[in-house]
Amino acid sequence: MKTKAFFQAIIIGGGVPGLTTAILLGQAGLSCALIDMAELPSGPLPKPGTRTIALMDSSLNVIKACGAWDDLKPHGAPLKTLSVIDDSSLNVDPLRVDFHARDAGMEAFGYNVANNIIHAVLSKHARACKNITLLTPARVKTIQTEPNVEITLEDGQVIQGDVLIGADGRGSIVRRHAGIDVSERDYGQMAMTCLLTHTRPHHETSVEHHRPGGPFTFVPMHGNRSALVWVEKTEEAQKLLKLKKDDFEQAIQDRSRGLLGKITLEGTPDSAPLKLLYAKSLVALRTALVAEAAHVMSPIGAQGLNLSLRDVAALAETLIDGARVGLDIGAQSVLQNYQNRRRVDIASRIHGVDGFNRIVSNNLVFLRGFRRAGLRSLSAIPPLKKFVMHQGLVPMLDDARILRGEVL
Ligand SMILES: Cc1cc2nc3c(=O)[nH]c(=O)nc-3n(C[C@H](O)[C@H](O)[C@H](O)COP(=O)(O)OP(=O)(O)OC[C@H]3O[C@@H](n4cnc5c(N)ncnc54)[C@H](O)[C@@H]3O)c2cc1C
Repeated sequence: MKTKAFFQAIIIGGGVPGLTTAILLGQAGLSCALIDMAELPSGPLPKPGTRTIALMDSSLNVIKACGAWDDLKPHGAPLKTLSVIDDSSLNVDPLRVDFHARDAGMEAFGYNVANNIIHAVLSKHARACKNITLLTPARVKTIQTEPNVEITLEDGQVIQGDVLIGADGRGSIVRRHAGIDVSERDYGQMAMTCLLTHTRPHHETSVEHHRPGGPFTFVPMHGNRSALVWVEKTEEAQKLLKLKKDDFEQAIQDRSRGLLGKITLEGTPDSAPLKLLYAKSLVALRTALVAEAAHVMSPIGAQGLNLSLRDVAALAETLIDGARVGLDIGAQSVLQNYQNRRRVDIASRIHGVDGFNRIVSNNLVFLRGFRRAGLRSLSAIPPLKKFVMHQGLVPMLDDARILRGEVL
């Protein structure tokens, strides 16, 4: 008979949120198993992939708490200005509003880093943590959460634990096993992502153009390089993705009205369909969900992973605090505390980003007017602009100590 190893926390999903959860718990002395069906990266860092993440200030504190920022910082480009351009009509001049980090008392709003580099650096730190057992690549065969967590892997290994954490992305098997319902809607949009070099400097500015098909966003990288996230209606995106390299580059130049000069593509663009999904509960019997297992949103405003890292901070803190005072960390009262901490922040971001996506991706004349009037008032009323910067960039709705850079 196979022995059953026991871990305080079992995490399914080794993306960035799953790894940060494991590292925070492991560093605090909790024993963790992390299961992923894919092998985690090892060895030298990969070349940057096309999906980059604008890690905002509080997310950087989560990465710092994991001890990974020194390794990551050389790969990140600072975001000193965020610009929004309403470019909804060819017949009307674009309207631009700039948000400067210095006006919010910050050196930079955050740093832009390729997702695969963040993932590789965190994998290295997870491998180095003695309290983390990596079970990768491994496939889950069965999940049981009563009376305790018991996971059987396809290779016959059985592991047990106090709490199961679903960090296994939008198709989460943990969520399905727990019977947690979701609300979901297909946006009928795709996000095309690519890396570019350009002849004009970006001045450490991320520029989000609002256009009828969806937002079109340049995010700065080191030198005269940027990442592009280009959202379009699915049919239009599929046509664009079939263009020859020169024509695709020209299309980017046209859409951005030559803002960054001559554009040269690095590699081939990637694409992903966009949807809205949110789980009706973050917790179930001995189970908690984080990140895309709980919420998926449009990349507009670069909120997704930042929101996920706030889940991670709140869950890690709740479990560590519970373990320190001798509570059963899989108990419903402990998990309910996590859900209570996250409910308002998640609901406000999900509905805020969804509403914003509808407003900026729509070409109805009254919405166009509403959008431009909104941007104009932001320019004209500095306190309103400051309020929006803080609500958009600093998570005032969450009080996790890790997000404020405090030691647990
Ligand atoms: C185009 C685009 C641009 C974006 N830009 C930004 C941005 O600038 N800023 C931002 O904050 N967010 C951004 N996001 C969102 C961000 O990429 C996601 O929020 C984040 O990657 C989700 O992480 P996750 O771990 O939940 O899911 P995933 O990254 O999908 O990871 C899930 C992990 O679970 C594993 N897994 C799944 N099922 C199983 C199973 N059954 N058994 C074992 N393992 C399993 C997978 O192998 C994977 O490793 C963007 C998203 C898109 C689409």
